[in-house]
Amino acid sequence: MSGAAGTIRAISGWVVRAHLDQPLVMRELVHVGTERLIGEVVGLDRDEANVQVYEETSGLAPGEPLFGTGEPLSVELGPGLLGEVFDGVQRPLRALAGQEGDFIGRGSRAPALDREKLWTFSPRVKVGDEVQAGSILGVVQETAMLLHPIVVPPGISGRVTSIAEESPRRVEDVIATVNDNKLTMLQRWRVRTPRPLLERLPLEVPLITRQRVLDTFFPLARGAAACMPGGFGTGKTVTQHQLCRWSDADVIIFVGCGERGNEITHLVRELPELIDPRTGRLLSERTILIANTSNMPVSAREASLFTGVTIGEYYRDLGFHVVLLADSLSRWAEALREISGRLEEMPAEEGYPPYLSSALAAFFERAGRVKNLSGTEGSLTLIGAISPAAGDLTEPVTRHSQRFVRTFWTLDRQLAAARVFPAISIRASYSDVPPAMERWWSEHVSPSWSSLRVEALAFLEEAGRCEETARLMGVDSLPERERFILGMAEEFREGFLSQNAFDPVDSACEPAKQVEMLEMYMKKVRG
Ligand code: ADP
Repeated sequence: MSGAAGTIRAISGWVVRAHLDQPLVMRELVHVGTERLIGEVVGLDRDEANVQVYEETSGLAPGEPLFGTGEPLSVELGPGLLGEVFDGVQRPLRALAGQEGDFIGRGSRAPALDREKLWTFSPRVKVGDEVQAGSILGVVQETAMLLHPIVVPPGISGRVTSIAEESPRRVEDVIATVNDNKLTMLQRWRVRTPRPLLERLPLEVPLITRQRVLDTFFPLARGAAACMPGGFGTGKTVTQHQLCRWSDADVIIFVGCGERGNEITHLVRELPELIDPRTGRLLSERTILIANTSNMPVSAREASLFTGVTIGEYYRDLGFHVVLLADSLSRWAEALREISGRLEEMPAEEGYPPYLSSALAAFFERAGRVKNLSGTEGSLTLIGAISPAAGDLTEPVTRHSQRFVRTFWTLDRQLAAARVFPAISIRASYSDVPPAMERWWSEHVSPSWSSLRVEALAFLEEAGRCEETARLMGVDSLPERERFILGMAEEFREGFLSQNAFDPVDSACEPAKQVEMLEMYMKKVRG
């Protein structure tokens, strides 16, 4: 790093205004003050820059220097991400806690990927082979269940002039040379730029979650985006845990942005201890946690979503199916609002910046099922929890998110109060089911899935009408058929829609069993 690029003039929370002696570019990563706190340029105005600082700024003073790095905010990618807990700018929280005790100080540094850890690299190419971006150079057993391909990074191709033998290697050791480029197991990627891919594939394969109400009525496609609004106590956390444990994903990334501090600690402690039902091993072997508590700077919360998405795209590019859960987009949007306020931007609806919608788009658009540069299929599915104040689904974060997702799972307060879990509202949820997904179910599970599903939805709608009439006129005034429907609806709710996350047997329901159960209930309904 060369000399200072400028001098701090003013500090407002996590936003710093600096006078520049050397030019910086938008979104450049900078180091702020003598403690060299991490920051990002978010505004430029001739010889002045606004910088969003990702660490606590108290104690920082005008007159201190600002250093440019010439690089945008990036993450480190390679073996060693699984099982880790990072903050919003990918600082490894456990390593830092080990260094400094529980309180992580400002200017604390530790590389995201452990530099000393040895991985047994097994080559898959030989000297003289032609390779290109995405070609697999070798593999590393990252955890017992994930064989991590080491691939040629984007932008590089040519002839292999050297390749490491099977041997223990550190992430920064050179494992191959391609056209004079010395390649290691560590790659870097800019968090705000989507990673390149060969082709986007249609969203037609469902992400099986083994949760009946989701798979049967509101299925989510692999590589699609979903949002899940729900008030406090409606089951967002339990549902997310269920998705982590039971959905068909190779890698799970959980971005906890700014829920109360103690909840995150809870999660950081609990999630890795969950047993992976598929393997009987720890779930942490395929999870990565990005944890921002509300006592960490709000600006790091804003970045955390993109840190998580970029790591997700990386595993997608290695040919894995990745699910990213963000909890919650509401807290993330509040971070945007706070930063925007500090930048003195003109607020739009409810104080959010006018670019709330495009910021949400920048997140949701990175979902996808793709043919990656290696030519294999991978996917990144994004699920954003939303906690709308007073359950109001017309508030800006929910409303704008709805524009970018085709699967919308609404958690209903009344159902939760009646202890019907998962409290997914049939009326207020929806999902786009393309014909190709119906074909998938028909070919892989049962040809009657589609017709049973339509029949069951019609039945639930009819039951809803009967309930309405019963509420107005009393059950006794209903004709026999309608009373029967009401009784069946109750049975269906208890036996099919409800699914107890804590029941060892019912916690997960395989697709074939879902169809069998549906068939059984519909037969009864038909009489
Ligand atoms: P939120 O995160 O929305 O505040 P939680 O996920 O903590 O809500 O859920 C609140 C409570 O609801 C849980 O402690 C649990 O008792 C119950 N609950 C939610 N979902 C389920 C489920 N699928 N099965 C059984 N109980 C559930």
